Amino acid sequence: MNTFKCTQCDTVGLTDGFIEDAGEHSRGYARWIEGALERGVFGGAKRMGRPRWQIEAYRCPKCGHLELFASNQV
Ligand SMILES: [Zn+2]
Repeated sequence: MNTFKCTQCDTVGLTDGFIEDAGEHSRGYARWIEGALERGVFGGAKRMGRPRWQIEAYRCPKCGHLELFASNQV
């Protein structure tokens, strides 16, 4: 628990968590990548050389709203 406040219903104290990436070669967590999405020739996102940030997702226990933060570069 923490003192984060839900921006939807003003409840204080959000539940810590993260967004899972269950893809086959994933590290298990989703990341935020700097720069607008560009797709390569095979349709996949171009992400070479871009900074990546781990996404933290805090869930409001009352309304279920997620507050997302990307504060740690990975
Ligand atoms: Zn809420």
